[in-house]
Amino acid sequence: MVCERGTIGYMTDAHDSHTTAQAYVVAGPSGVGKGTILASLCDRAPECWLSISATTRSPRPGEIDGVHYFFLTEKEFDRLLAEGNMLEWAVVHGKHRYGTPRGPVEDALAHGKTVILEVDLDGARQIRSSMPQVRQIFIAPPSFDVLERRLRSRATETEEQIRRRLETARVELAAADEFDIVLVNDSVARATDELLHICGLSK
Ligand code: 5GP
Repeated sequence: MVCERGTIGYMTDAHDSHTTAQAYVVAGPSGVGKGTILASLCDRAPECWLSISATTRSPRPGEIDGVHYFFLTEKEFDRLLAEGNMLEWAVVHGKHRYGTPRGPVEDALAHGKTVILEVDLDGARQIRSSMPQVRQIFIAPPSFDVLERRLRSRATETEEQIRRRLETARVELAAADEFDIVLVNDSVARATDELLHICGLSK
């Protein structure tokens, strides 16, 4: 089996014995546009499979359990951890826990999907150590000012939450060099094109 360097490869016979499934980590500060880019990626490449994270934070207006996140109680999150059912997890913005449920990722890979894991810096580091072949992509803003403006303009967080997210963003931006690829989101269309190319999904 020939695998592109820096990707995880599985030969699978679930659909096609020649399918090579691959996983990619996508990280980057809150407000950088990861969600928009990933939604656009999945629209354009339905063969890509986006992991749904679990979180202990409450849903924002419009967020649906099982679609945007699995919204769990602290106890439910503890149980998944105790059962070894999290691929990685972290406390994000010093407050709530977020993690990647293991089973659905393994199923998607076994079915030959291109798997995308959206995680924070801590989660990316855990995956780097447990799955070193997974290619890691960091989405960066054109500048810190642009990030701050985007975060404020979406108006979904309180001033205290914005301040916390900006603090986390400084730490994350300082670690961008740890990633295999840094993608600057100066245009959603261009960043999506590049991501499709990186993930081998360009038509
Ligand atoms: P939000 O609360 O804005 O939906 O997400 C906050 C941050 O949580 C995201 O920017 C992302 O970095 C992080 N995050 C989302 N899902 C996961 C996950 O499954 N694992 C980890 N470690 N971080 C996550």
